[in-house]
Amino acid sequence: MARAVLQISPEAVVANWRALDAASDARTETAATIKADAYGLGSARIAPALAAAGARSFFVAIAEEGAMLRRILGEGPAIHVYGGHMPGDAEAIAQAGLIPMLNSIEQLTRQFESLPGHPFGIQLDTGMNRLGMEPADWAAVAELVLDQRPALIMSHLACADEPDHAMNARQLRLFHTMTDGAGVPRSLAATGGTLMGAAYHFDMTRPGIGLYGGRPFEDANPVVRLTLPVIQTRDVEPGESVGYGNAFVAEAPMRVATVSAGYADGVLRALSGKPTLWHGDTPCPLVGRVSMDLLTIDVTALAEPPEALELLGPHQGIDVLADLAGTIGYEILTALGPRYARHYA
Ligand SMILES: *Cc1c(COP(=O)(O)O)cnc(C)c1O
Repeated sequence: MARAVLQISPEAVVANWRALDAASDARTETAATIKADAYGLGSARIAPALAAAGARSFFVAIAEEGAMLRRILGEGPAIHVYGGHMPGDAEAIAQAGLIPMLNSIEQLTRQFESLPGHPFGIQLDTGMNRLGMEPADWAAVAELVLDQRPALIMSHLACADEPDHAMNARQLRLFHTMTDGAGVPRSLAATGGTLMGAAYHFDMTRPGIGLYGGRPFEDANPVVRLTLPVIQTRDVEPGESVGYGNAFVAEAPMRVATVSAGYADGVLRALSGKPTLWHGDTPCPLVGRVSMDLLTIDVTALAEPPEALELLGPHQGIDVLADLAGTIGYEILTALGPRYARHYA
């Protein structure tokens, strides 16, 4: 079998959710952000595990994801949609009982005209300039909207992965100014904000990446392990090259293993020549370029040709790989491709 195995631990996700839940006091509900199919790890397995552990509210990016999540979770849990209410979403919102986080006066109008009386939330922009109503828009409609009793008012922090960044306090102040006295549940914190302390917690936190073992939740339990089968092993003489573009040239006699995974599987091509794969506790450097389906690994340090090598696991987490590729753990996770055999345990 040349199929790589991606092991995903719903138990570790649950442990991370419990740890983030413990970071805020009992009055703050800890929701779960599981957009993009639970950051690529499979909401069909992750969401029920979180619900069984006590998570009552979930967040997705678009209504279609919300409808799919409703089929997975059944009646009960609240499902919020960050993208709000787009044209054509009314039926999905009504049938799946979704809570659109309305982003603009246009979306408010769409919601009130097509689904009067249906639960909704409000998303405010406190400086990120990505989604949400700006202070002037909100001031114009707040009274009318609050009469309709929104389920939740939220905003999003732009720099929560840098706790000392002045932007955090600025957004916190503006969120207070825009929502104090509204008498409606409020949420400001994702993973970063959850770790920044009680001032950021309000009534609900909604972590994503921390559940899946990524920064800025440094103490997170690792959730994924990726094991790649070796297809072929060969000896390479000094002066011989390995892979596309002759990008690697052997300086000494060495042994090279070719493993089954490449950039089509989310092993970003920017990782060419950079990471180490592991055989037990022995590091085996990746040499040459990342191909679409294959990687070439220096296994000279091993006594026997290996059957498989590990790319993600206890020795190398998603953020180590992300740093090497010049990206973030979120992208490493959501890039993990459809070719892996996914084992949940
Ligand atoms: C993705 C997202 C989250 C979760 O963020 P993490 O950094 O993964 O915890 C929360 N709120 C909004 C608006 C988001 O887009």
